[in-house]
Amino acid sequence: MAKSITVRAPSSTANLGPGFDVFGLALDAFFDEVKITKKGKGIKIVTSDSIPTSPQKNTAGLVAKNMIQKFKIKDGIEIKIKKGVPAGFGMGSSAASAAATAMAINKLFKLNLDSNSLVEFAGMGEKASAGTVHYDNVAASILGGFVIVRKNPLDVIKIEPPRDLALCVAIPKFAVPAKKTKVSRSVIPSKISISDSILNLANAAAIVVGFMKKDSTLIGKSIIDVIVEPARQHMIPGFSKVKKNALNAGALGVTISGAGPSVIAFANKSSNLKKISSSMAKGFATANKKCDIVICRPSKGAAVIKN
Ligand code: ADP
Repeated sequence: MAKSITVRAPSSTANLGPGFDVFGLALDAFFDEVKITKKGKGIKIVTSDSIPTSPQKNTAGLVAKNMIQKFKIKDGIEIKIKKGVPAGFGMGSSAASAAATAMAINKLFKLNLDSNSLVEFAGMGEKASAGTVHYDNVAASILGGFVIVRKNPLDVIKIEPPRDLALCVAIPKFAVPAKKTKVSRSVIPSKISISDSILNLANAAAIVVGFMKKDSTLIGKSIIDVIVEPARQHMIPGFSKVKKNALNAGALGVTISGAGPSVIAFANKSSNLKKISSSMAKGFATANKKCDIVICRPSKGAAVIKN
C-alpha cells in the first residue's frame, strides 16, 4: 500500500450572485497542493504558509480528523500543505485545502467514497475557517466546473461550463478580518421580501440554464443578486465603482466572489479581458486600494498528482 499521496485542488468562486450557499465554480487561477503521508501518531500539519497548524483550526486538519474518526484509521498522518490559493480573499482557499485532503485520504486509505461523501467531509473542514459547515466552495474544488449544492440530504449536481466562459478576478490588497466569512455572514438579512426572493430565484434559474445551454452571455447577464450583494458591498471599498467600470468595459456580469473581498467579472471569448481587468483596478484605485488581477477560466476538479 502507498505510504503517501499528493493531491492538487483548484480555487473557486462561490455564490455567483443569486446562488448564495448553493452555487460554486472551480477556477484555474490558483491551486493548493496537499501531501498526506502515513507517519507517526495522530495528525501533524506541516506548512510554510501563514495558516493555522493546529489540526482543529486548519481546514485540512479538521477534514482529516473527521475522516480518521469515522473510518477508524489507526495510522498517524502528516499533512503537508503548499498554499497556492491566497487565504481570506473569497477564492476558496480554505476549501481547496479541505478538498485536496478529503480526496487524498480517500485514495490513500482506499475508502472508495462517492463524490457526495467527499464533499460532505471536505465541507466539515470549513468549520475551521468560516465557523460553519458549508459546501459550495469544496464541491466546486472537488468536482470542478459549475456545481449546485442541495442539502438534507447532501446532493451535488455538476454541470460542465461553456468553453468560452472567462473570468476576471480583482483581488484587493487590504487586510481581511481573521473571521471574515463569519463576519460577512452576520451582515446578511435573516428575513427577505418575497419580491427579492423572486428576483434572485429567476436569475439563479437562468444561470443554471446558461450553464446547461453553454451560453456564457445568459450566465453573465443573470449574475444579479438583490439580497446578499447589497448587504455585503459596504465591506469592500470601491465595490460599486469596480462593478460599474467592469460592466462599462464589456463584462457580462459582476459580483462579489464568495464572501469577498475579491470581485469577479464574467465574460466570454469575445470580451476584452484586459480592458475589463484594468477598469476593475481603476475602480479599486478610486478607493485608494491596490489589487491583483487574475484572468482565468473554469477548472477541472481536484486530482492526484503524485502517489
Ligand atoms: P477563503 O475564501 O480564502 O477560504 P476564509 O476567510 O473563509 O477565506 O478562510 C480563510 C481563513 O481560514 C484564514 O483565517 C485562515 O487562517 C483559515 N484557514 C484555516 N485552514 C486553512 C487552510 N488550510 N487554508 C487556508 N486558510 C485556512
